[in-house]
Amino acid sequence: MKKIISLITCLVLMMTVCITASAAGSSTLNGNGSVAVGSNIELTVNVKDCADASSIAVAITFDDGFELVSGSWLKEGSIKVFDTAKNKGSLGGLASPNVNGNLFKLVLKAKTVSADGEKVNVNVIAKNGSNEILNVNASKTVKITCTTHKYGNYTKKDANNHTRTCSECGNVETKAHTWDKGTVTKKATCKEQGNTHYTCTASGCDATKDVAIAKTKTHSYGAWTVTKEATCTEKGAQERVCSICSNKETKDIAALGHKFANAKVEKEATCTEAGKESGECTVCGQKTTNTIKAKGHSFGKAVVTKEATETETGLKTYTCSVCGEKKEEVIPVLNTESEVPTTSDTADTDATSSDANTDVDVDADADADADADSSNEGGFNGKILIIVILAVVLVGLAVVLIIKKRK
Ligand SMILES: [Zn+2]
Ligand SMILES: [Zn+2]
Ligand SMILES: [Zn+2]
Ligand SMILES: [Zn+2]
Ligand SMILES: [Zn+2]
Repeated sequence: MKKIISLITCLVLMMTVCITASAAGSSTLNGNGSVAVGSNIELTVNVKDCADASSIAVAITFDDGFELVSGSWLKEGSIKVFDTAKNKGSLGGLASPNVNGNLFKLVLKAKTVSADGEKVNVNVIAKNGSNEILNVNASKTVKITCTTHKYGNYTKKDANNHTRTCSECGNVETKAHTWDKGTVTKKATCKEQGNTHYTCTASGCDATKDVAIAKTKTHSYGAWTVTKEATCTEKGAQERVCSICSNKETKDIAALGHKFANAKVEKEATCTEAGKESGECTVCGQKTTNTIKAKGHSFGKAVVTKEATETETGLKTYTCSVCGEKKEEVIPVLNTESEVPTTSDTADTDATSSDANTDVDVDADADADADADSSNEGGFNGKILIIVILAVVLVGLAVVLIIKKRK
C-alpha cells in the first residue's frame, strides 16, 4: 500500500514538472509586415508567461536584405549590454524579476527589395541564477518593397475590384473597376426590362457587368374599340390594348341623352293660360311633355273714348287684338294756366317741385354755356347799340356844325 502511494506521488510530481516546463513562457516579435527599401523598421520582442528571472539574453539573426542598426533593452537592470557587431545582448541585476511584456527593441534597415520577405529571428534566454527558465525563439518575415513600384497590367479580382502587382517587390495594389459609359444591349419595353453592358477600362482587366434598365411606363396602344354602346340614359365603355404587353385600358362613353323631336301641341297657349306640348325621343321612345308659356295680351294703340275737358278727366281704351280683353286709362284734366309748355302736360300737372328741379337742372347744367352765351350776346348787343348811338350823335353834331359854318 505504501509503495502504491509513493508511486502515485512520484507520478503527480513528474506531471507537475512536465506542466511547469511546458508552461515556461513564450515570445513574439511585433511590428509592420513590410518596409520600403532604404527605410528603417522597428521590431519589439514581447515575453509572456515567464517565471521570475535574474538575468536575460537575446541573440538576433536575420536574412541578407536587412542590416542591424540598433538594439535596446526596455527593462531596467544594473548590467545592460548590446553588441551590434555580434548581434547579441544581455541584461543582468534586474530591477524587477518580472521580464514579461515588451522586453527589447531592435531597428533594422531594409537594404534590398524582397517580394517573399526577409526573416528576422530573436532567441530569448532567461535564467534564474544558473537555471535556464526560458529559451524561446520569436520570428517574423518582413517584405521589403520598392519606393517606386513597377506595376504591370490589371487583372480582375472580383466583381468590384481589380489588382496589379509590382514586378520588383510583388506589392499588390487593389482598386475598384473603372467602368465605361456602357452600351445598351437590350432596350427596355413596357413588357420586359432592358440591359446595359459595362466594361472595365483598365488595361488588362477583362471585367464586365450588366445592369438592368427598368420597364418603361408608356404603352403602345392601338385604337379605342367600343365594348359597350352608350344609350340615351346609360354610359357605354371602350378599351384599347397595348400591342407589346397586352395591357388593357378602359374608358367610359358618356350617356347620349334623349333626342326629343316631333313635338306635338296638345293645348295652345292663350294670352293668359299656359299651353302644353308632348314629345318623344327618336332613339328610345321616351315620352315627354312641355309647358308652353302664356303669351300675354297684345294691346295696340289706345282709342280715346272720352275727351278730357278743363274740368273733367277723359278716358282712353286699349283692346287685345287676340282675345278682345279691354284696358282703360284715365286722361287727366286739361291745364289752362300754363298753355305755353304744351310739350308735357304731365310734367306740369305732376308737381311744382319738378319745375323747381328742372329749373335747377337747367341752371346747373347749362350755367357756363348758356349763361356765358346769353351774357355775351347781351353785352355784345348793348355795346354795339351804344357805339351806334354815339356814332349817330357825333354825325348829327358834325352835320349841325357844318351847316352853321356855311351860314
Ligand atoms: Zn514594388
Ligand atoms: Zn477592372
Ligand atoms: Zn405595354
Ligand atoms: Zn332616348
Ligand atoms: Zn289677349
